[in-house]
Amino acid sequence: MLAAQQKAAQKAAMASAMQAAPRVATGRSVAASRTMSMGGARPMNAPAVAQRAAVRRATRVLVSAIANGATAPVEKTSNPMNIVFVSAEVAPWSKTGGLGDVVGGLPIELAKRGHKVITIAPRYDQYSDCWDTSVVVNVDGESVRFFHAIKSGVHRVFIDHPWFLAKVWGKTGSKLYGNRSGSDYIDNHKRFTMFCKAAIESVRALPFGPGEDCVFVANDWHSALIPLIIKDVYQPRGQFKNAKVAYCIHNIAFQGRFWPESFKDMQLPQSTMSKLGFIDGYSKVFDEKNPLDDDEKPSDSWSGPFNKLNWMKAGILAADKVLTVSPNYASEIGSGPDKGVELDSIIRMAGGAEGIVNGMDVTEWNPKTDKYVPVKYDRNSVFEGKAAAKAALQAEAGLPVDPTAPLFGYIGRLEEQKGVDILLSALPKISNAQVIILGTGKAKYEQLVKSMATKNPNFKGVVKFSAPMAHQITAGADFILVPSRFEPCGLIQLHAMQYGTVPVVASTGGLVDTVKEGVTGFHMGAFDPDRLNPADADAVAATVSRAAQVFQTPKFREMVKNCISQDLSWAAPAKKWEAILEEVSRGCTAAPAKKASVPTPVQKQIPVRA
Ligand code: ADP
Repeated sequence: MLAAQQKAAQKAAMASAMQAAPRVATGRSVAASRTMSMGGARPMNAPAVAQRAAVRRATRVLVSAIANGATAPVEKTSNPMNIVFVSAEVAPWSKTGGLGDVVGGLPIELAKRGHKVITIAPRYDQYSDCWDTSVVVNVDGESVRFFHAIKSGVHRVFIDHPWFLAKVWGKTGSKLYGNRSGSDYIDNHKRFTMFCKAAIESVRALPFGPGEDCVFVANDWHSALIPLIIKDVYQPRGQFKNAKVAYCIHNIAFQGRFWPESFKDMQLPQSTMSKLGFIDGYSKVFDEKNPLDDDEKPSDSWSGPFNKLNWMKAGILAADKVLTVSPNYASEIGSGPDKGVELDSIIRMAGGAEGIVNGMDVTEWNPKTDKYVPVKYDRNSVFEGKAAAKAALQAEAGLPVDPTAPLFGYIGRLEEQKGVDILLSALPKISNAQVIILGTGKAKYEQLVKSMATKNPNFKGVVKFSAPMAHQITAGADFILVPSRFEPCGLIQLHAMQYGTVPVVASTGGLVDTVKEGVTGFHMGAFDPDRLNPADADAVAATVSRAAQVFQTPKFREMVKNCISQDLSWAAPAKKWEAILEEVSRGCTAAPAKKASVPTPVQKQIPVRA
């Protein structure tokens, strides 16, 4: 991680299915069908009666399917676009966090809506399902090839060059950017400049590419040069004249700050320096030569000024539209230097960011089909299914197998951003509950998590990256704790709700937009971004106690049902993405109404209660 980013990470580190107006076979919405059948103004005739009965049947099937986790039928666009996502990660091929999930899942839903969608990511590994296109382009003297697969209607393009393949021998982990967090590869500016330039060339070089008439979606600092190069290099030459670029911020703590000397390696015109240039107060850029130690805290004090390049700043300034992954995070990052990590004024200058809450992968995370769940369940069998999952989890973790003990889970990186230090400080104040923590991260937190059980037999810490265990905790815990200091969107709470597990969250970023106090979860308030504040540990303990008191009451059962009855898939977010991209690329006047038809999860009506 880079110096200023680490500082930032510590400062900042330290946020209905029915709603989608499901369509029945006649093309009318369910609501419209109901209104018609209740109106009764027209004379009855046999075909009309039969038709209404069919509509009612279809509606019943649909409502029940949606209540059981299916998503509404996809609306097709009448306005297809060529959409090109450029990203350093794309799940399942490469992923270190939410970025990979978004670029894995959202394009599939946009393709279902009728758009031509391409994702472009580096080829970090020998992906067995991707083929060499034999198309080669020259980028600043380097030969770059393209690999390709079509999956679920999306063209997946992988940029092949030894700077990616030779460095990274696996799909996940910080190795994509460095050997470990806080120790970025020394040539990352060269790697990702080449990546951006090759990505732009690929859309006109590949036979299945859309050519120059497309809308790019660039993501985070790694592809922030896409808008810059389109606007400052290609368009002045009369190329990509109609192309537009949306730029999405998944985590503003990672900005791509580099020393100005790196500019010569990037081979960009001098004019781009006006957008890339940045001044901060930090004397280091953390990389392999200047790694950040676990316990090291970059100085809080300004010791500059230091001239830097800031890729994210350039991306924000050059883009046609700035997006992020939740409305609340969008307002936070424009609110001030702490939450905006010193880019708040740039975001305001660009007209602000627009937030769209992420969807989640409802195929991988589905209690009805989850291979790690002992008794599969849906909303109708959620209490039986969760009871079995809880007993299995308690047994496997070595916790007392006790259905009456409220069980709180935590899954995530063991880092300050996620507030694991706050949770660990709160543990001695928690007496009436079981707690299980699963995670990997900083050595000091791994040590504390490992020793949890020695302090209290109701606590268990598991230090490993384990998808099976993550699924078991998500299904088997009664509550999931998300005590993040900042959280652009957050997936853990979405996964939890999908399994009828009630989230207990810090009131920040996307957690505010996805968890409704007393309805789908509990809020703990916002935490001190800079330090471990004893009042925050108290707030965690107090909210755990509050949630434990509600456990097993009728209110708790209603909250469980509320959680599991939501449609948290990509269907609704994709509709909002579509509206925004239409607005960006075509100035579409219908976009505001389409956007307004997709409220954030906390504003949605919960479809079914029992
Ligand atoms: P971030 O991207 O900031 O790390 P998110 O909440 O967006 O956080 O996503 C974290 C993802 O990583 C989730 O899918 C979660 O289940 C998974 N995960 C985190 N830690 C672990 C772990 N130790 N074992 C298995 N899965 C994990």
